Amino acid sequence: MRPIGPPPQLHITMNKTILVTGGTGYIGSHTIVDLIDNGFDVISVDNFSNSHGEQILERLAQITGRTILNYRTDLTDAAATRKIFEAHPGIAGIIHFAAHIYVNDSVRHPVKYYRNNLNSLLNILDGMSEFGVRHLIFSSSCSVYGNSSALPVVETTPIGKAESPYARTKQMGEAIITDYANAHPDAHAILLRYFNPAGAHESGLLGEAPLVKNTHLVPVITETAIGARDQMYVHGDDYDTRDGSCVRDYIHVMDIANAHTKALQYLLEGRNQGGAEIFNIGIGQGVTVLEAIRAFEAHTGIALNYVIGPRREGDAAAIYADNTKARKLLGWTPKRDIRDIMASAWQWEQVLHHTPSLQPVREE
Ligand code: UDP
Repeated sequence: MRPIGPPPQLHITMNKTILVTGGTGYIGSHTIVDLIDNGFDVISVDNFSNSHGEQILERLAQITGRTILNYRTDLTDAAATRKIFEAHPGIAGIIHFAAHIYVNDSVRHPVKYYRNNLNSLLNILDGMSEFGVRHLIFSSSCSVYGNSSALPVVETTPIGKAESPYARTKQMGEAIITDYANAHPDAHAILLRYFNPAGAHESGLLGEAPLVKNTHLVPVITETAIGARDQMYVHGDDYDTRDGSCVRDYIHVMDIANAHTKALQYLLEGRNQGGAEIFNIGIGQGVTVLEAIRAFEAHTGIALNYVIGPRREGDAAAIYADNTKARKLLGWTPKRDIRDIMASAWQWEQVLHHTPSLQPVREE
């Protein structure tokens, strides 16, 4: 006798595949972890121009239990970029991190920045239109606001004068994507304006490990504490801020990572308003340089060897985000604060200290 009832169903679940450019970089690698945690499949494209790429891929495998396919392709090579799209017809979305990122370097070598940051974006957009990929998340930066006097900055705060060629490539990238999305009604993009990313994955397996020696505040603090630097400088204490040092919005890299996942879900679920939408990704609070140092000292009990130095050229006195829009529309909530940043950055610094192969290999 045949059993009564519907035939058994075969359930095949297909994860959505996301192409991550710059997947072995600082924010890219942490975002891959969050994407996989949230059920996405990932393909990475990274030419390892500023990462210990193979080691980062190994560490990603340890954390996620997955082998991440990486194309060691230069995205300014149009034919090679096209081949990646051709090989993966089902890409649901792209997160485009890959870019040159150093402000001072960009002042010295502007053409290098325009060539790399713009050509790679144009090749990605060509791939999207030829192969029908509809969703793009772009790594932008609060540097597009320039030296804004209206604080906190809101997404509607006007774009300011770019303080460097790097910042200008981000402004131009945003404009190019906005025009692209207007011309392709099927395409939807999100421009994430990051504030000051810092901290590391809580496992101690992943953190910031560029090939270029770091000059950002949090790694400078941890390198000083571990003895890799004799002392550090506070770049100015005569600004018009509550303690005279500059105010920034330090946002934990895993919270930034999760903003990408939330932004993708927003696009894939069709909740976006169309075109290219901007979101500020910061914690929404300003922290001074001296407060950041105090937070580190309080967490570790180490008295940091710092001196007050002159102002650093090009520094804005203060910038921090209004992140209401990302909270409301993306449902994103930063879960970590400056203490979590210092705790995870300090844990990571100790890993770096015992792993010479992850150390930087050149100055900026
Ligand atoms: N800063 C500092 N000493 C350092 C590095 C940075 O006082 O060795 C200050 C810098 O002047 C700025 C803040 O820390 O006010 C954040 O600088 P960072 O380079 O981390 O990021 P930026 O905001 O410039 O992108």
